[in-house]
Amino acid sequence: MGGVQVLSGDLVAQIAAGEVIERPVSVVKELVENSLDAGSSRIVVEVEAGGKRRIRVSDDGHGMERDDLLLAFERHATSKIRSLQDLQGIATLGFRGEALPSIVAVSRVQVRTATAGAEIGTMLEVVKGKLSAATETVTPRGTVFEIDSLFESLPARKKFLRSIPTEMSQITDLVNRYALAFPGVSFRLTADGRELLDAPATEEFPERIRQVFGTGFAGGMIPVQGDRGYARLQGAVSRPDHHFSVPSRQILFVNRRMVRDRSVSHAIREAYRRILPARRFPAVLLFLQVPAHAVDVNVHPAKTEVRFRDPSLIHDLVSEGIRGSLSSARPVVSFVKGVGEGATSPVAGPADRLREATESYLRSHEELPEWSIPEAHHLPEEKFRPVQGEMQGPPVTALAQYRDSFIIAADSQGLLFVDQHAAHERILYERYMAGLGDREPDRQSLLVPRTLDITATQMVALEAAQETLRALGFRLEPFGKNSVIIREVPGLVDPATLSRLLGDLLEEVGRQFGRMEPGRLQEQLMVTTACHAAIKIHQPLGKERMANLLSELFQTSHPMTCPHGRPALLRFPHGEMMARFGRR
Ligand code: ADP
Ligand code: MG
Repeated sequence: MGGVQVLSGDLVAQIAAGEVIERPVSVVKELVENSLDAGSSRIVVEVEAGGKRRIRVSDDGHGMERDDLLLAFERHATSKIRSLQDLQGIATLGFRGEALPSIVAVSRVQVRTATAGAEIGTMLEVVKGKLSAATETVTPRGTVFEIDSLFESLPARKKFLRSIPTEMSQITDLVNRYALAFPGVSFRLTADGRELLDAPATEEFPERIRQVFGTGFAGGMIPVQGDRGYARLQGAVSRPDHHFSVPSRQILFVNRRMVRDRSVSHAIREAYRRILPARRFPAVLLFLQVPAHAVDVNVHPAKTEVRFRDPSLIHDLVSEGIRGSLSSARPVVSFVKGVGEGATSPVAGPADRLREATESYLRSHEELPEWSIPEAHHLPEEKFRPVQGEMQGPPVTALAQYRDSFIIAADSQGLLFVDQHAAHERILYERYMAGLGDREPDRQSLLVPRTLDITATQMVALEAAQETLRALGFRLEPFGKNSVIIREVPGLVDPATLSRLLGDLLEEVGRQFGRMEPGRLQEQLMVTTACHAAIKIHQPLGKERMANLLSELFQTSHPMTCPHGRPALLRFPHGEMMARFGRR
């Protein structure tokens, strides 16, 4: 080998461009960010062949003077920061001055731009990195960028592009995200002439969600808000009954900059723990505002990551913010479609079907459910007889038990259907979680202590979990090398099914031991114990028992679902009942 050489300017430009412009969506991102930085109120993105053939972004922003335009294509040319100090407090989306030079290094570019008050604007073409002469042109205030033949000069790069639909879906996703973050800006996106997004400017974030994702989706979202120290959180998250098979609808903006962040993702998972079914994901649209000094945005060439000065503050703000909204909104699933239609009944179907039914109901009713955190609980009281006893939630009256398994009840908004097992699981689970440490658990001694054979691994695991088990109401003593004596068990557990419960617990402990942090393991044991101790279906309940169960359910922080994420209650809205019977 030998012969060290300095690379040619062209080559350096292409290598550097590779970091910023990876694929068509990167071009769209940089151009849209520039349009936003230019103070535009309307941005139109037109794409052909997934961006491989053409990308056109036009805005009505402040435009550029001729000389600025000529400079803008130089590497590290920017109007957005001037000094090292500015770098500490970046308010614009761009600041590296790298996008335009990177784009022209890998495509053909035409730009037309005019500033406010100028009669005549400027047009310029850049082919193979060479600027043409700037010519005068009549063009409205703002800027139009047209990018052709992306990666034509880089066949190797071009080969790595995906199919047109894949590239297009990334672009759509990106434009959607920006549209969500900037509701005050009007966005339009077309693909080969077909309109994919038309979002006129709006003051209302929920309206923007509706424009982007449709009424059904918007109806499944509840607002989130929170403060912690210097940080502010706003946005919307999905109700526990709206979940998805992939986490693609999770959007994070920090100071209006779209980023990914591991600790925020973790906080989201935390917030939905024991509320969603396993392997299902919520939709989460979060907008964080932090002072510029509390976040470093200059850590990634494509600006997709940030570094928080205090990640744990952000983590807690997000997870407690979401948790708080879910807990106070308590959105009960109302089901209507398919009632009385046998097989399609959403009640019988899996959670997905239920969600679809809810969405299609909302779509067919074309009305947004109340957005502000529902104050549904203060409806005219005289119509409803509250159940006896203390209750924090809305007044609920237990009416009957159906097939010894479901409680039918009424509240101010309609009929409630409660899965007695799921409801009791939720109650017990939260009681276990709350009672840990500060209260003696309900326990029962076994008249005849039992022994259980276990493996050596289980024995080790068991010792590690002893404390949790004791807090749940178990008293187990090792007996020899391979067995334990069970002396006491939690109050509600049926001694007859005890070995099954212990078997489950030990298996869990054995499987998760060493792989799970202690808190998780503890939680897992509580879920399992709650499941075994809870009232089963096919178990008759008296009126009073039902009333107590409901009252307790509504005192939990998440009455909507059991700790496995299945629904615990459904509502048939009163309005729907009236409508179906032709009354109003
Ligand atoms: P950066 O955004 O980091 O400053 P870019 O290479 O993206 O770098 O853009 C270079 C400069 O070109 C910007 O600083 C801005 O002054 C100007 N510019 C780019 N796009 C637009 C636009 N749509 N409207 C007005 N000015 C623009
Ligand atoms: Mg830029």
